[in-house]
Amino acid sequence: MTQLSSAAEILAACGFDKAELAGGTLAVTSPIDGAEIARLAETPVDDMPAIIAQAGAAFDAWRRVPAPRRGELIRLLGEELRASKDALGALVTLEAGKIVSEGLGEVQEMIDICDFAVGLSRQLYGLTIASERPGHVMRETWHPMGPAAVITAFNFPVAVWSWNTALALVCGDPVIWKPSEKAPLTALACAKIFARAVARFGDAPEGLLQVVIGGADLGAALTASPDVPIVSATGSTRMGRIVGPEVAKRFGRTILELGGNNAMIVAPSADLDMAVRAIVFSAVGTAGQRCTSLRRLIVHNSVREALVERLVAAYATLPIGDPRKAGTLVGPLIDADARDRMLAALERARADGGTVHGGEPAKDAPEGGAYVAPAVVEMPGQTEVVREETFAPILYVMGYDDLEDAFAMQNDVPQGLSSCIFTLDLREAEEFLQRSDCGIANVNIGPSGAEIGGAFGGEKETGGGRESGSDAWKGYMRRATNTVNYSAALPLAQGVKFDV
Ligand code: NAD
Repeated sequence: MTQLSSAAEILAACGFDKAELAGGTLAVTSPIDGAEIARLAETPVDDMPAIIAQAGAAFDAWRRVPAPRRGELIRLLGEELRASKDALGALVTLEAGKIVSEGLGEVQEMIDICDFAVGLSRQLYGLTIASERPGHVMRETWHPMGPAAVITAFNFPVAVWSWNTALALVCGDPVIWKPSEKAPLTALACAKIFARAVARFGDAPEGLLQVVIGGADLGAALTASPDVPIVSATGSTRMGRIVGPEVAKRFGRTILELGGNNAMIVAPSADLDMAVRAIVFSAVGTAGQRCTSLRRLIVHNSVREALVERLVAAYATLPIGDPRKAGTLVGPLIDADARDRMLAALERARADGGTVHGGEPAKDAPEGGAYVAPAVVEMPGQTEVVREETFAPILYVMGYDDLEDAFAMQNDVPQGLSSCIFTLDLREAEEFLQRSDCGIANVNIGPSGAEIGGAFGGEKETGGGRESGSDAWKGYMRRATNTVNYSAALPLAQGVKFDV
């Protein structure tokens, strides 16, 4: 066990007092053993107009603060996160069931995006453009946009908030955060950390960050409001199908980060030792509950049998159990419904002619948690169940002979988040990078996990959003084209004459 092992210790280390954890209507349970750890007060949906108005008032002040000064707040947030890393990481483990190093890793990712955003606060670059008219200059400039709603999923309860918030705040936009109802404590803990950064910053407006606790109705209030110009929503494609059209109806902007169904192609030349390690981590890490988890393995038939044998052997040795315990690699699923969905998917795979290795409820795991043995499923082809995202550690294996067929299979799913190939053949690797239709395409590394710096997101039913690195900041700003005439004449473009 880590030093912070009991729920009470972790909650105290995160700065909660007993009163705020009791008496509310939202029961928070730990997936580790199903124990109730808090009963939180929920935000009444009737409060949403005032919360949105508060964000609007904060915007009016914050947009006038120079961007490098806004970056200073994020620098302080990064410092506060460094100081709180152990406590917040332990809370992620308690509330989301991640193993210790993954809980800490999630907080590290928050620190990394803060560092990135601080630099960015001095690099919100526009363009200068040559004008065809004498004595004129054209510029493209970027401006704060307004309050951003950040709706997050249970599986990255804190990192996804920070990806959005660090960028939104340096771009001049206040944030209203609607965390998953399955992980509200980590959100409240982040709000406390943020408040410490604000106190050190000194003159930040009230309401730069507001956290609303509750279910989809709060998300829907944000989605519907024309005073929330940006809605960044991470979660299931089911949710995105509702949020996307609702925001579009009022011509708002969405950043959608939805489900994935990520594949790896293993070519005959692949380094199988490396491939096995990459497969096991990306299919089994976070108990298969990453949007980028590896779900489909498309293997050349010449190496398929040997690879499956090695995977089945590796899976048999996986330590499954209490995620707080040193050495555990597979913690619990988020709840019993998630386990039932996994078992139902395995039944469908069997009915489609699949051979299932593993996949049974785990023995010797804590009572009250949904612990399962990860499954490797040899499939005769990419049937309907394989084309769906089941948010659990199921790895479907399909064979191929011709690389063209492998490319076709990799793309033939509704989702388009992450993909990869293991090969030592340069031509195959480069061809794969041209042909994958995903937002993330890798060579000789698994599909899961994101590193701050690259833009994160995917195509098709994954929603098309990009967050975190590269020029994702542009999603939080509006662009203006400015033409300035410093001459004493008024020529028109394209030679148009209009003398009055
Ligand atoms: P979910 O869709 O059930 O919930 C996500 C969030 O959306 C929650 O905060 C929920 O309250 C809110 N919500 C639900 N319905 C809503 C509505 N009608 N209007 C507004 N808000 C609504 O997802 P989950 O089970 O928490 O997370 C798992 C899913 O998230 C998986 O599909 C996974 O692939 C996806 N995910 C995607 C990414 C990515 O970056 N692409 C990252 C993490 C998770």
